[in-house]
Amino acid sequence: MVLPDSCTNPTLSSNTFTKTTTTLQHFQDAFLHYGEDLIPVWQDAHHELGGFIAGCRENDLEMVPLLAAWATPHGPLRDEAYERIVGDLLARLAAAAPLDGLLLALHGAMVSESYRSADSETLRRVRAAVGPHFPLILSLDMHANVAPEMAALPTATIVYRTYPHVDQRARGVECAHLMARILRERVRPVQAHVKLPLLMHIVQQYTGAGPLATIFAEVERLTQQPGILSASLAPGYIYADSPYMGTSVIVVADGDWERAESEARRLAQFVFDKRLELNAALPDVPTAVAQARAIEGTVCLMDCGDNIGAGGPGDSTIILEEILKQHVKTGFFAGGRQDGSPARALHSTRGTCAVHQRWPIH
Ligand SMILES: [Zn+2]
Repeated sequence: MVLPDSCTNPTLSSNTFTKTTTTLQHFQDAFLHYGEDLIPVWQDAHHELGGFIAGCRENDLEMVPLLAAWATPHGPLRDEAYERIVGDLLARLAAAAPLDGLLLALHGAMVSESYRSADSETLRRVRAAVGPHFPLILSLDMHANVAPEMAALPTATIVYRTYPHVDQRARGVECAHLMARILRERVRPVQAHVKLPLLMHIVQQYTGAGPLATIFAEVERLTQQPGILSASLAPGYIYADSPYMGTSVIVVADGDWERAESEARRLAQFVFDKRLELNAALPDVPTAVAQARAIEGTVCLMDCGDNIGAGGPGDSTIILEEILKQHVKTGFFAGGRQDGSPARALHSTRGTCAVHQRWPIH
């Protein structure tokens, strides 16, 4: 069986606390690909778009690639860039009709000048274009600030389950497999979304150990239960002054909304019961530098409030100031955009060395 399917990926997270904005040029300088041109660039990528492509091939789904747009996070997206990219997406979606389904990869924390949840606006426009019953599967970054529309408008929503993110491709494959089941096995996804009054510090979001490892083991266990099609936890993106900021749980069941809702509420309670374990007790900057000085070997100090990969400007000098105050001579790593002032200043300090972090992991 050959089924026309389409895949698309406009993705960005937006830091609303920086003075910068994200422009179309940022996408053009990073990744902005249309139609078949996106296949050679993305098919082997460790990204959900690569997973879409692999999963469609595994399931003999005929693909109609639409658009891929990605930019390093900055401040809110300029309106003209948003309208251009989403307009291109909708035009290509209309031109590709008739289609049987749409795989859509959004970050989930994109803010534009006009929309506090630009991803929700994108979903509203896409859903309006394809109609209420058209299969639309959405993938989201774990740092998505899930707005109600992100659970209400897609047929199913699937979120990364690792941080650092190492499962994007697997989640993309999961989206394509679910699409194949919707089209061929007539599974009927229904999903419930629970928003928790909970923010998780980024240093507590590692999923390989600690409380989130326990929580995601429970998420994985739930995904294996009969009648459950997917389960997700999104801690959210904390560098956004957004009404949707915070932790979300999404559970997708097969045709049983009450089951989806009860499992989502149970999982949300499981997460909330671990909230004290999710607290991060961090030293202040003078203490951190003093502790680092007492350690033999290489020490890495990071100002995670100025994370370039999360849209920070990379110009914080708070750690540098303390390093100089404590007369530290060797062995520190300084993050910063290329030509960033902290890195330059540190480099000029005798006996220290600076390393630029040009393409950060977020
Ligand atoms: Zn993320």
